[in-house]
Amino acid sequence: MRLLLLCLAFVLPCLAQAEKSIHVIKKIGDQKGPTLLLMGGIQGDEPGGFNTTNIFLTHYKILSGSVWVVPVLNKYSMLLNHRGVYGDLNRKFAYLSPKDPEYPLIQSIKHTITASDVNAVLHLHDGSGFYRPHYESALLNPRRWGNSFIIDQNNLAHTTFGDLKHISAKTTEHINAHLLKPLHRYHIHNTHTARGDKEMEKALTYFAIKHDKPAFANEASKELTLAQRVYYHLLAIEGILQELGIHYSKDFALNPLAIYRLINDRKLQVTLNHNTTLPLYGLRDRLHFFPFPKNAPVSQIPLDSQSYILGLLPRKNQIWLKYGNKLMTRFIPEYMPFDDSLKDINIEIDNKVKTIALASIVDVKGSFKVLPKKGYRVNIIGFSRANEGSKPNEVGVKIAHKNLSTRFSVDTKGRIYRVEVYKGNAFCGMILVRFV
Ligand SMILES: [Zn+2]
Repeated sequence: MRLLLLCLAFVLPCLAQAEKSIHVIKKIGDQKGPTLLLMGGIQGDEPGGFNTTNIFLTHYKILSGSVWVVPVLNKYSMLLNHRGVYGDLNRKFAYLSPKDPEYPLIQSIKHTITASDVNAVLHLHDGSGFYRPHYESALLNPRRWGNSFIIDQNNLAHTTFGDLKHISAKTTEHINAHLLKPLHRYHIHNTHTARGDKEMEKALTYFAIKHDKPAFANEASKELTLAQRVYYHLLAIEGILQELGIHYSKDFALNPLAIYRLINDRKLQVTLNHNTTLPLYGLRDRLHFFPFPKNAPVSQIPLDSQSYILGLLPRKNQIWLKYGNKLMTRFIPEYMPFDDSLKDINIEIDNKVKTIALASIVDVKGSFKVLPKKGYRVNIIGFSRANEGSKPNEVGVKIAHKNLSTRFSVDTKGRIYRVEVYKGNAFCGMILVRFV
């Protein structure tokens, strides 16, 4: 056991590198107005926060004022489902040695908080149990953090939105008007940090307060499902936007089921290396012989998606695809040179020739046939014909679902297959063929 712990202590930091700066996405309305800085994921094992920022980024529109969003402050810890690979990032805002691996990251967070445009800060957390001002039970008491709205003090003098007490009262009132159960009732938790709370002095919100930025933290209980946590976080965001006078719209009805569907949206995709697109959901546990560029660190592999909380995590000889804390698949990489000279190929789909861009997913009802392209060859994973050799070129053959070996599909249902295009040994990109 001791040995195992020692190994973990050494291995974890090697696998995940502290980022040097945060990613800020600015949602700016057409009308002028104040700016809220919204942040989640300071601890990598609090998915309520970073799933909320992700849903906010993808499903809300800002009409007046601005919301700057940092989807996840501690991305490498999120990829490892770890509270803080280098210790608690939310205790590094008072003093921090410049030698700390997260020093540059903390500087970047401080720089964003103190930006002159920022009028208020909302920091999202997932906390244990349910906060109550007086002891009721082990789960409901003043030492719990879940479902509370936190301020460091009542007032920030001479500052717009400095009436922290009033804003937090109105925001919790808004949340409490939409409770799923009476047990979930929100309370304001004033930590009175300046009176000598040594722990809270080191936290992000108090750093903001000391720099005259009104700051609030919302805690959703770890007792709740992910969708419920996101529900309460979104209520807190909507409550505070109302108080700041920032107008917004959204494309869904706010309830846990709708949120569950947005988080687990089967339409979500990821594009790797600009040349390969996969669905996020329904993938096999492992994808074997998957092309990855030779000599490129995993952290530099381009990922494009609707989602802001995706990442690749190197693990021994695998590369894991993470969506927040969720593991979507494990790539068993095949490292090879990449070639970006080709944009598309022609494929006859259900007897009709179409030009298909690399990194597409195409639907096929009956059959498909990749047409020859001079200088390039095609390998269809799960298809083979006699005497192919090591560099197959499977163009000009009509292929139906029954001609493919289902164990080579990328999805667990056996309907989606890889059409890989090469120039000699170099990988140009992939098209996925989906039988519908
Ligand atoms: Zn937290």
